[in-house]
Amino acid sequence: MAEKKQYSVVVNESRCKRCGICIAFCPTKVFVPDAEGLPIVAYEEKCIGCMMCEHRCPDIAIKVGVKKSEL
Ligand code: SF4
Ligand code: SF4
Repeated sequence: MAEKKQYSVVVNESRCKRCGICIAFCPTKVFVPDAEGLPIVAYEEKCIGCMMCEHRCPDIAIKVGVKKSEL
């Protein structure tokens, strides 16, 4: 059985300027904005590792990585 890759998504709050680009581009809606527009990683398990958020973020405030397999 093939294991599905799991990704970690981390937003650097001090770098993020709350522009909403990552929220708009994420194809699987991993982020939910808080009251100030800061993207909260609400559904990390939905991340498909497309890197769109990391590449589009103008402030290099997002880091996407592969989680270690539990095997
Ligand atoms: S890597 Fe892709 S799927 Fe994962 S949070 Fe970023 S935009 Fe969404
Ligand atoms: S794209 Fe970057 S700066 Fe804009 S809201 Fe997302 S993390 Fe913040």
